[in-house]
Amino acid sequence: MSAAASAIDARAPRCCANPDPQLAFPDACGPAARWPLVRCRRCSLVYVRDPRSIADLDAAQQNAYGAPTQRFGAVLESAVRAFRAARARLVQRLVPRGARVLDVGCGRGLFLRLLRERGYLVRGTELSEATRKNAYPDVPIDAGELTRASYPAGSFDLISIWHVLEHVRDPHATLDAAHQALAPNGVLLLAVPNFASWQARFGGERWFHLDLPRHLWQFTPTTLRALLEQHGFRVELMRTGQWEMDPFGWVQTALNRAGFRPNALYDTLRSNPADKADLSLPYRLLQLLLFPLLLGPAFALALLARCTGRAGTVIAVARRSP
Ligand SMILES: [Zn+2]
Repeated sequence: MSAAASAIDARAPRCCANPDPQLAFPDACGPAARWPLVRCRRCSLVYVRDPRSIADLDAAQQNAYGAPTQRFGAVLESAVRAFRAARARLVQRLVPRGARVLDVGCGRGLFLRLLRERGYLVRGTELSEATRKNAYPDVPIDAGELTRASYPAGSFDLISIWHVLEHVRDPHATLDAAHQALAPNGVLLLAVPNFASWQARFGGERWFHLDLPRHLWQFTPTTLRALLEQHGFRVELMRTGQWEMDPFGWVQTALNRAGFRPNALYDTLRSNPADKADLSLPYRLLQLLLFPLLLGPAFALALLARCTGRAGTVIAVARRSP
């Protein structure tokens, strides 16, 4: 085995101290291949059994979230902006103006820009070089994943890890680094897809948020809480449901289940041509035609799931224990 290969093995996913993985979803599908998922009998975490090599994985993440400054067309971009503003208002309720905020996996930095306009001191991390190049130039963004070496202890009052923890190679290391980088009593703001949701159950191996091979980990409110407590956080709020994600998640999951190419609508809506290169124009038009037809029932299901705590995403607010 080469030195490079053994380095990859050393960083292979490890869910807990004594992993006991059992094949749970053998036929989970990405656009072009199957990515079997396992569930650990000890810690209950669900994860991709054979993640790609580190180099391939970085390429996949960069292709997915990289190139364009605008990820979607103009109409959807204004919706994205409204959702980022809503997240900024959530931060305003948690920490006062002037607080130091880090956004892990900040993309092009729109959320941080909105926070800075509201008087916060902001910083981001972003893995993708292409995204960093196209980011807002007035937002400071550091390269790479968050590690213990990234920032001096206690550098931030709030760290946001928003739909990023499911992508990282080692969620334990990321939460450990966040704990170290937060000031005592600092706030961690987290969002991930909810594997215990109705949507996940309905979609099974074709659920939108499996997003294979990019999502390496799947969490539930129970496993997320356990993980946070294990890393020295006190959970103050945990709820399910996000309007930004849930209705669309229902639509895309229904289309996936109907037999369309996984996440074809999502890729059609994105502005990166590489995402939809395998989809013909009529195929894409059909996706766009079905989208508004399914959106009404999807909103109803999203509302019902949210009321019962079974919506497709989980949001957690946790505080660093002193
Ligand atoms: Zn485990």
